[in-house]
Amino acid sequence: MPVHAGMSHMGIEMAKRDYYEVLGVAKNASEEEIKKAYRKIAMANHPDTHPNDKDAEERFKEASEAYEVLSDKTKRQNYDQFGFAGVDGAAGGYSNVYRDFSDLFSGSGFGGFGDIFDSFFGGGSRSRSSSPNVVRGASLQYTATVSFKDAIFGTKVDVSYTHDDACETCHGTGGSGMKTCPTCHGSGQVARGSGFFQMATTCPTCHGSGQVIENPCSTCHGTGLRKKSEKLSVTIPCGTEDGTRLVLRGKGNAGPNGGPAGDLLVSVHVLDDRYFVRDGRNVFLQVPISFTQAALGCEIEVPLVEGGKVRVSVPAGIQSGKSLRLKNRGVPAFRGSVDDRGDMYLTLVVETPKHLGLKARGLMKELAQVLGEDASPSPIPFER
Ligand SMILES: [Zn+2]
Ligand SMILES: [Zn+2]
Repeated sequence: MPVHAGMSHMGIEMAKRDYYEVLGVAKNASEEEIKKAYRKIAMANHPDTHPNDKDAEERFKEASEAYEVLSDKTKRQNYDQFGFAGVDGAAGGYSNVYRDFSDLFSGSGFGGFGDIFDSFFGGGSRSRSSSPNVVRGASLQYTATVSFKDAIFGTKVDVSYTHDDACETCHGTGGSGMKTCPTCHGSGQVARGSGFFQMATTCPTCHGSGQVIENPCSTCHGTGLRKKSEKLSVTIPCGTEDGTRLVLRGKGNAGPNGGPAGDLLVSVHVLDDRYFVRDGRNVFLQVPISFTQAALGCEIEVPLVEGGKVRVSVPAGIQSGKSLRLKNRGVPAFRGSVDDRGDMYLTLVVETPKHLGLKARGLMKELAQVLGEDASPSPIPFER
């Protein structure tokens, strides 16, 4: 739970000092000057180095709030223009500043600052500081392409990939003897980027562990890792939709220095079918019928997603575009029972004959007369 500075009581608002005054910088101070000024005050008044010193804590909070506003271009502009009213909400605290705080100090020899900061603010927000030496390996992405039918009924796919595994010689330790990393001084992070906005990134020397090996293993040169080819049989469950991501825990890269492995993330790409279309647990199929079949009714044979065919009765007088439902011929639930499926919808498309022979044409004319078809039909109203 982040601690919010005592801004909840409105009384403080009244006594609030100008942010530039708080940091002791000019109104036109550069970003670098503001950063420097804040750094100085924060160092001198840090609550962990001044326990039970209410004044120091107050100065620290005040400076942090000022810094949060003045270090942000937009907030600074608003503040310059409208005063405290322009940065309402920023006054809620310095939670954003505290997140960036150790970044501000990294590379300056204050590697342990992040930890101090966490303990002061209740901690728990940075997993790396609670256990700085445990770094999880990277998760890997893999795309498996399956057919329309296999995605519906489930299948197994072979997944071949290469990943980092623990070195067999040193059992992932990378060697023997540990010392504090000279690059990051044990913090595991270094500041990257130019100008005011710096990002903390994982230290390239120790890969975030904060420590380096004195006597590196000759097989893996101290990385504790080796490349390994893996072949897994991955189950694609029934009812899988396109874009589903399956997580195979611990099948990614091994962590450096014996850290836990990342995951293998298998994204499933489902191929389209030439005839069937799927929407969730239902499948749709367009079936052409002739207009005499539509008028008289008929029995047709239609294909099923699982293969094979089924006979379907089309009632007389069916209109083009109407659907017939075939229960339990659709898609099972994801990881569900293959006996409990959604439905299949047949959409009947009535086709108009294109080429009529002499006899057919005559019959058609006769039919039109018998039916008393009007040469000027009136429009059909929209259905509501
Ligand atoms: Zn090794
Ligand atoms: Zn390092």
